[in-house]
Amino acid sequence: MLWVAEPALQASLLELPLGGFITPASAELPVAAGVLALHGPRDEGVVQPGDVIALTPGSPVVRVLYRRGSDSNLLFMTDRCNSLCLMCSQPPKDVDDRWHIEENLRVIDLMDPQEENIGISGGEPTLYREGLLTILRKCKDVLPHKSIHVLSNGRTFKDPSWIEALTQVDHPQLSWGIPVYADNPTDHDHVVQAPGAFSETLQGLYNLARAKQVIEIRVVLSQLTTPRLPELAHYVFRNLPFVRHVALMGIESTGLARKHYDELWIDPLDYQEHLTQAVYFLSNRGLPVSIYNLPLCLVPAHLARFARQSISDWKNLFIDDCKDCAAAEHCSGFFKSHTTRWQSRGIQKLTTQAFEAYAGSAQ
Ligand code: SF4
Repeated sequence: MLWVAEPALQASLLELPLGGFITPASAELPVAAGVLALHGPRDEGVVQPGDVIALTPGSPVVRVLYRRGSDSNLLFMTDRCNSLCLMCSQPPKDVDDRWHIEENLRVIDLMDPQEENIGISGGEPTLYREGLLTILRKCKDVLPHKSIHVLSNGRTFKDPSWIEALTQVDHPQLSWGIPVYADNPTDHDHVVQAPGAFSETLQGLYNLARAKQVIEIRVVLSQLTTPRLPELAHYVFRNLPFVRHVALMGIESTGLARKHYDELWIDPLDYQEHLTQAVYFLSNRGLPVSIYNLPLCLVPAHLARFARQSISDWKNLFIDDCKDCAAAEHCSGFFKSHTTRWQSRGIQKLTTQAFEAYAGSAQ
């Protein structure tokens, strides 16, 4: 689409072979019926040159499918899932939404071939197996410089035919983020609300390893997962030696997590000790580990070097307490869904002096 700020140019512009026009509120462009036109978007920065958007005739909604230069771009595969995790931020829907596959293939054609990361997520993306494999092949062909990180619960990979399929795709920069929530089936299956899931995910992880895939283990930190976090770190190190990275992640207080607040919520101050044990156990044995989604003031200063600014730009928030905090530029802050109910008693702005202890750890 073309952004048209000067209505005087309309006659010549309307001849161009464009998908449509965007005009500011002050400059209406009378376009013929059937020509797509977005007039007076509330946020004029909603679309930037190079972005990929989807518009529906007759609807004011602009769906931004790709932001040029952002590392938060995501190809959304499906709302369907074969698990029902207690803290799922996007509760699954039982729908046939294969149209996402076609849309993603079209978006890939329109993306810039730069070195940004792309995520692939759902729902459970592997439920549309052939669609996912087609997308991975296309990413390899069209966007070879972009690294791809797919979020999956890993359960469908228990089917060994994935080994051959992924070996054939042979994407040079593909990695998988797979959650393991406990060192035992009872606890893991309870978190994901799916009997047998732990066993399937473990089989899946071994099959991914056989296919020489790059694997990250993801753990959402909650009242259910933190009591045995050190044991889980041991389990991953002993049983999954092929894992390349472990991400220990603060919870996102949205979706099903709100419904299960009483079962999930634990103040991060109350699991600092177990977090510390798990991080050093893995790190001291050469397994890279990161802490995602936790405000810096809730991470002990000596763990600051493991903390990442991990929350996607479009859902990141800083609250009033963060005003004048010396750590603000280095802190992951909060999800936009944050509410006081999910706020730790430990949130406090850091003075320059206090932040120096964090910065010293990060070096
Ligand atoms: S107070 Fe500072 S360290 Fe704490 S969440 Fe806000 S910006 Fe981050």
